[in-house]
Amino acid sequence: MKITDNTLDVYLATEELIQGLTHDEIGDDHLYTGLETPMKKNAFEISDAEKKETIAQLFAQIMDVMGLDLNDDSLKGTPNRVAKMYIDEIFSGLNPKNKPEIALFENKYQYNQMLVEKNITFYSNCEHHFVPIVGKAHVAYISSGKVIGLSKLNRIVQYYAKRPQVQERLTNQIGTELQQLLETKDVAVIIDAKHLCVSSRGVKDDSSATVTSFYGGSFENPTKITELQQYINA
Ligand SMILES: [Zn+2]
Repeated sequence: MKITDNTLDVYLATEELIQGLTHDEIGDDHLYTGLETPMKKNAFEISDAEKKETIAQLFAQIMDVMGLDLNDDSLKGTPNRVAKMYIDEIFSGLNPKNKPEIALFENKYQYNQMLVEKNITFYSNCEHHFVPIVGKAHVAYISSGKVIGLSKLNRIVQYYAKRPQVQERLTNQIGTELQQLLETKDVAVIIDAKHLCVSSRGVKDDSSATVTSFYGGSFENPTKITELQQYINA
């Protein structure tokens, strides 16, 4: 089983402070470091099948260390099930090959007002605790002459949600992706989500939610933001 490489060795050898904070403090405060999901350069040198095999072995070790009996019929299949779920489902958005293919169309209807796709339900996972983030995304754009199918807005949200995430990065990744795709700066994304690492553990606050936004181009104008909020609340 080949689980170590340079990055893992470096991780195991260091516990330096970042702006005076330990890694634990950064994770617990859900701070994040950049727009790109931090990935190793060789992230896709091994196949999905190899990844699943290794994750299953490692997850079996975690269960074993916790004292669970892997010979129990109910637990036996769990390591494989978790490995498959990680690679094929909940973290499938890490692999660029799973990025949705999006075709652009001419804006034949000459519709030049904002288009809002609201209440897109998504499930993601907090990269600091690996527990779910559940929320709704509202996505808006003003066509520069090109449009995409409405379901594609949903697919882009799902693609970036299926990664270990922090909500700010998820919001910005969706926003910048749509700006590139639609060839316009006029894109807005609002995400309203619940983090299970906040509600089910830690401070155990079940009623709080986190709202983040990305406003580009004409959406930086307060009147456009008000208009967008009216659409969302309608
Ligand atoms: Zn968390």
